Order: sequence, then C-alpha cells, then structure tokens
Amino acid sequence: MDAESEIQQPALDRTLTPPKVKMLINGRFVDSGTSHWEDIPNPATKEVLATVPYSSADEIEAAVAAAREAFKTWKNTPIPTRARLFLRFQGLIRKNMDRLAASVTAELGKTGPDAEGDVFRGLEVVEHACSIASLQMGGYVENVASRVDTYTILQPLGVCAGITPFNFPGMIPLWMYPMAIACGNTFVLKPSELDPITPVMIAELAQEAGMPDGVLNIVHGGKDTVNALCDHPDIKAISFVGSAPVGTLVYNRASGTGKRAQCMMAANNHGIVLPDANKEHALNALVGACFGASAQRCMAIHTMVLVGKASDWLPAFVEKVKALKVGPGWEKDTDMGPLIRPAAKERVTGYIEKGIAEGAELELDGRDVPVPGYEQGNFIGPTIFSKVTPEMTIYKDEIFGPVLNVVNVDTLDKAIAFTNNNPFGNGTAIFTSSGAAAHKFQNEIDVGQVGINLPIPVPLPFFSFTGSSGSKLGDLGPYGKQVIEFYTQTKTITARWPQDDTGGGGVNTAITLK
Ligand code: NAD
Repeated sequence: MDAESEIQQPALDRTLTPPKVKMLINGRFVDSGTSHWEDIPNPATKEVLATVPYSSADEIEAAVAAAREAFKTWKNTPIPTRARLFLRFQGLIRKNMDRLAASVTAELGKTGPDAEGDVFRGLEVVEHACSIASLQMGGYVENVASRVDTYTILQPLGVCAGITPFNFPGMIPLWMYPMAIACGNTFVLKPSELDPITPVMIAELAQEAGMPDGVLNIVHGGKDTVNALCDHPDIKAISFVGSAPVGTLVYNRASGTGKRAQCMMAANNHGIVLPDANKEHALNALVGACFGASAQRCMAIHTMVLVGKASDWLPAFVEKVKALKVGPGWEKDTDMGPLIRPAAKERVTGYIEKGIAEGAELELDGRDVPVPGYEQGNFIGPTIFSKVTPEMTIYKDEIFGPVLNVVNVDTLDKAIAFTNNNPFGNGTAIFTSSGAAAHKFQNEIDVGQVGINLPIPVPLPFFSFTGSSGSKLGDLGPYGKQVIEFYTQTKTITARWPQDDTGGGGVNTAITLK
C-alpha cells in the first residue's frame, strides 16, 4: 500500500462508532455481554474495523420488551409529531452523508459514489416518511344507510422487526424502520452481521433526531437472533431482505407463528438488447449495471440476452468492461471494489471454474486481477461468459459477484420466453428504439421491475419495490403505499348518531340497506 492510499483511506469515527459495535436498547447504545464476537474486516485491506456481538437471548428479550413498552405511547403520538421526527432525521443524514458513505466504503468496499448512493436511496425513504399523514389516511363514506357513515382507520400493528442483508447497509435498514415507525409501530432491527457499523451510525442520528426511547432498537447476530425474532410472540410483522434459502426459512417461520412477513430475496436479472437499440447508450449502461458494486446488488444484470444482430456487439462490450479499474473503494478512479469476505471470493472463483468445466466460453477472466498494494483484498475482476445455456450452474445459481452470462437468441419473443423461464423475477431491462417492442416487453415479461432503456429500475419511495415470483415471498413490498398496508391494520367503523327525535330501538334497528 503506498503512502497516498493510506492517507485517502477513510477512518471510522471512533467517537461515534467504537470498535465494539453497540446494540441499541431502550434508547441507549450498550455493549453486549455475550462471549460471541466476530471481527469486521475492511474487505480491501483486512484491517479489523470493529467487532460485532451476537446478542444473547436476554438482550433480544430486552429489546423486544423495550419496543413493546414504547408502543403504548408511540402509537398515540400525534401524526405531525411523528412526521417531524423524520424531518429532523433526514436533515441529520444529509449533514453526515460523507461520514456515512465513508463507513460503507470501509466495511463493505463500495466506491465513494456507490456508497453515497447506498445512503442516499435510504435517505429518500426517510424523506417519504415525512408525508406519513397523507399516506396513512383512511377512507370515509357518508350515508351508507340513513344517517349511517362508514370509515376506515389504519392503525399500527405493534412491535415490528427487520432483518437486513450485507449489500446495502445504508439503504435497506432505511427501507424498513422509518416507514414502520412513522406508521406508529416500534421496531427491532437486526442488521447484517457482516457490516453493522453503518446501520448503528445511522441509528445514532435517529436518536439524535429525537426518537423516543424504545421506539427503535438494534440487536446483532446471525441465525439464532433471526429465529428468536421470528418466534417471538410480541412481534407482529417481519421484514426480511436477503438470499432465497434464508428468506424462505424466515417467511415460513414468521408466518407459521401468525406474523405478517415480507421477504425480498435473490435474483437473476436479464438485460435484453435488441439490434435497433442505441448501441453506445445500451453498452455503457450495461457495463455499470452488470459490474457496478462488483455485482453485489440484487438488481444487477446477471444475464445479457443479445437478440439477432446485437450479438455482434459482444466484442465492443468486452472492450468497455476491460477498461474498468478494480481497487479499494476510497481511491477516486476505482470502478469496482472488493467482495465482502474471502468466502465470497472463493465462492465466485468456484463458479468461474464451474462455468469453464460446463463448457461456457470465458470471454474475460477476473480471477487473479492485479490490485497493486492490496494483494490481500477480496478482489475479483469482471468476468464474462458467452455461450451460456440454462442448464449451466452459472446460470441457475445466484452468483452475487462480477460474473456475467451472455446468451444469444434470434427474436424478441425468444428473449421474453427465455427470461420468463427463469424462476426469479426481481428486475429486467430492455434496450430498444422501438416503442412497439418496449410495449410488448413490458406487457409480456413476468418480472416485477422493468427498465426501458435504463438498467436497475429500482422504484423511488413513492412507488413500492415490486420484485416478484421467486424473488419475493409475501404480498406487499417495502416502502411506498404497499408498506403502509403492510405495517398497519385496517379497522372499519360504521356509525349511527341518532337525532333527538329518533324513536324506536329494540332488536330490529340494524342498518337497513335498500
Ligand atoms: P443472507 O440471506 O445470507 O443474510 C440475510 C440476513 O439473514 C442476515 O441478516 C443474516 O444474518 C440472516 N441469516 C443468514 N443465515 C440465516 C439463517 N440460516 N437463518 C436465519 N437468518 C439467517 O443474505 P446476504 O448474503 O446478506 O445478502 C445477499 C442476498 O440478498 C442476495 O441473495 C441478494 O439477491 C439478496 N438481496 C435481495 C434484495 C431484494 O430486494 N430482493 C435486496 C438486497 C439483497
């Protein structure tokens, strides 16, 4: 490592984020008493940034109890007061953006702009939570019968919990607790044990914004912590984002104990390129979508489908990808940072070997990518396979690393059928200059989030995140209108206010509908 890189490397703010990652219980950031701690290494340097505890059963119980107690008053806190909390919170996140992004870069390896994007997309949900009064409005119909009105109110559920993956430590916790808490619920967050520093730093800002004690709580750990939350009788709803096998376990376990559950899971997103597309625009957009964040994104393009003559564009695409610079996220010219852990690097390397063994053609090999000064980092360069078939392991499994599959088909119909045969349905994108082709694609494609001439179509928070089929369990997605429904119970009230001259009574005075 040269002296210049050492200076550029962001330092963690040890005054706010001590090397021991804290839990947040009943408004206090506290150390765990557990004997189980794991290191959080910087994935580019292996420097240990902090250690994370695996919270004990008693500590999890204390967090849930604090949330249960806080719910008694928070649920009736006036809605403008709840909204103002998020106004203050969003201001503090903005003010601390550089520090938060530096933390994402240090513990996850993202480049500076990508780390800032991670926090910014979460910030947008906090901004949306400021509109909670209009989002949580019920309905009212006057005169459903003579002098009888019916109306609905959306009431909070109680204690909700969130379980998040490693790849968006800024955004995904903020997908969950701001909207849940704005609705009047209280919350227990279990961030990924691989990069919990940033979520705790953001929670410090939430407390500074005036979050009442016990409304937001954080516990740490892995499977045991998640199971304890799924089984806890006082928790009413679980939001999960992560891999498909774990999401399925969480969904079954949580819904098996009568909870609401929403699980956003794995992906194999297809990018379809028609020969009438603007070639430069399409290829440039796909370089970022396929390899940005080292493809540790659930909306990354994993499979590029070149239709007809667009197959001729592969060499030009490979040349563009070769220009990407792999390195530590804090260096200004880095395009792709490291993978989160050595195990992830080994897994992705194993997939590349499997792709070769199964007969795919290796157009670009990212193994042994040179990163001078950072040989110990978990780096893998961009890798491209052509002649990929649906039976190959590299197509069937979610690799979650910078390995792109390229397939060729001769018609749009075949591209749609190929994409629809994949069990996942998180995102897809088409590149074309034909409105008719784009319209046919949006109509026939069986995927929840569709981009037209833009990849990675993640909806902004006034819509909902709408991954579908094998990428999701549960009916309602994170943020937007759907999550208001998820985090509230609709109560329907029918009321008659008799006037003074109303006579009668007795058993036959129920509403008469004619
Ligand atoms: P992961 O499933 O390994 O972990 C997610 C969470 O589950 C973590 O908090 C972890 O502690 C917990 N967990 C791990 N094993 C568990 C077990 N056996 N039982 C109970 N809980 C367990 O996922 P990850 O590797 O952190 O994240 C990457 C995955 O997340 C990818 O599959 C990616 O596609 C997916 N993801 C999906 C979306 C989406 O919106 N669809 C967004 C981001 C990431």
